Amino acid sequence: MSSLQGVGIGRSIVVGPVLRMPDKLPEPATLSSTIGPDAEKERVTHALAGTAADIRGRGEKAGGKAQEVLEAQALMADDPTLRSDIDTRVEGGATAERAVFEAFAGFRDMLLGIGGYMAERATDLDDVSQRVIARLSGVAAPGVPESDTPFVLVARDLAPADTALLDLEKVLAVVTSEGGPTSHTAILAREKSIPAIVSAHGALDLTDGTVVIADASTGSITVDPTAEEISAAQAEAERRAARASVPVGPGALADGTPIPLLANLGSADGVEGAVKAGAEGVGLFRTEFLFLDAKAAPTVAQQYTHYSKLLRGFPGKKVVVRVLDAGADKPLSFLNDAPEENPALGLRGLRALRASEHILREQLTALARAQSESDADLWVMAPMVSTVEETRYFVALARELGIRTAGVMVEVPSSALLADRVLTEADFASIGTNDLTQYTLAADRLLGSVASFQDPWHPAVLRLIREVGRAGEALGKPVGICGEAAADPLLAVVLVGLGATSLSMSPAALGDVRAELLQHTREQAAALAEAALTAEDAAGARAAVRALLPA
Ligand code: PEP
Ligand code: MG
Repeated sequence: MSSLQGVGIGRSIVVGPVLRMPDKLPEPATLSSTIGPDAEKERVTHALAGTAADIRGRGEKAGGKAQEVLEAQALMADDPTLRSDIDTRVEGGATAERAVFEAFAGFRDMLLGIGGYMAERATDLDDVSQRVIARLSGVAAPGVPESDTPFVLVARDLAPADTALLDLEKVLAVVTSEGGPTSHTAILAREKSIPAIVSAHGALDLTDGTVVIADASTGSITVDPTAEEISAAQAEAERRAARASVPVGPGALADGTPIPLLANLGSADGVEGAVKAGAEGVGLFRTEFLFLDAKAAPTVAQQYTHYSKLLRGFPGKKVVVRVLDAGADKPLSFLNDAPEENPALGLRGLRALRASEHILREQLTALARAQSESDADLWVMAPMVSTVEETRYFVALARELGIRTAGVMVEVPSSALLADRVLTEADFASIGTNDLTQYTLAADRLLGSVASFQDPWHPAVLRLIREVGRAGEALGKPVGICGEAAADPLLAVVLVGLGATSLSMSPAALGDVRAELLQHTREQAAALAEAALTAEDAAGARAAVRALLPA
């Protein structure tokens, strides 16, 4: 038995066999065939037929829309034009792998040249090409592996598209060797309630079929556990599931002080789950996820449809929408495609929107229109605000375009330090602890090697949050928390002690945070916050807070 340590996301504990996500295949070498064209052609015939049958089989299993998509992919492997192109290359002396690679690449470039719908098929074609080459080379096909039984997915890192397509019936947990806890893939995993452990060094050495216990609450992975360890983990999983099913109600401290618990969402599709988990509204709607793949800015009409759907889900409730936060880990080519050495410090968030103000105006217009036709209480905020002047700019523009409540995210230390001035201009502040931690500790949130710095328990981060809490109290303005820190039950209590008036998190975290808040009065929360503030590092802050808890 051995164990690995990473950074956990979620509260679940799971037991299951590992399945590795293969890396993208290298480009086949341009060697001449050593077995001759006829033998190469036979290999091609088998690989194409096997790939088509495999894709069709997956389609039949999936049914519905997925089957249509997969059937179209299977037809690519059957395509006679492609086949004759492959044969010509093989006759010219190429290996089957190289011929398939070149023929598919040529076809892909042609589709891209046509543009529109055809160009969108290019990725599907690449996927088929990789599958055929994998089959020829006798290695696993890249992408999320297929399995009939549940498994723990182990990968270097996941692309957001991979995360979005995960089969939740099969993937018990995701373990990655890279990626920080606040990378957007981690956030998507949290939103879909998939337990994840990121930045687990050594995870890529795990072999397929190895049984592991993955505990997202501690970030630990037990490799080859004993039977006793497995049954203890299963009992713990049941205990946690029972706790998660406690009836939901509004968030409050033990003395009855209300602390509204809100949901972080990336799509209006998440509304139903959030309401079910007891979200009292939305504290952060990340609009960029709607447009991550867009080549052009979405139209006002398209945006209006999305926002209206979101607002309909929360009649009479608060819904905080963030305008597009492009740049760094969320590149949107239509907002900023200039290469930057340090994109996290570059033209991102409000800076990028300001440089293309028409896009910001259109988004605010769509939001104002959705607001006027809804009885939800729409608040709109800007990301990555680092100066008082930017605050003034955003609030004025939002009001000009009809937004009733306009605020800013506090994600940069400068805004936290000048919170009194910022909150004089804005209607509210919402603290993005993911970025605030990144910028305070100078540690890229996407970089596994510095993931240990990305800890919002750090007293430097907590002191900045206290500045914002104090300013909010003095000016009578709400201060929410919408970074992942709010999803850590004990830290959530500390944040309330520092002056947070509402907490927003992935719906999956609401139950545990609600349960923890009920254990502490306002006075106790303030005492816990005080203890954390005086520590010298994150571990010290945790220890100081735990030491004050009843045994
Ligand atoms: C944050 O930075 O804490 C935040 C909520 O914004 P995002 O994670 O989308 O950057
Ligand atoms: Mg942020």
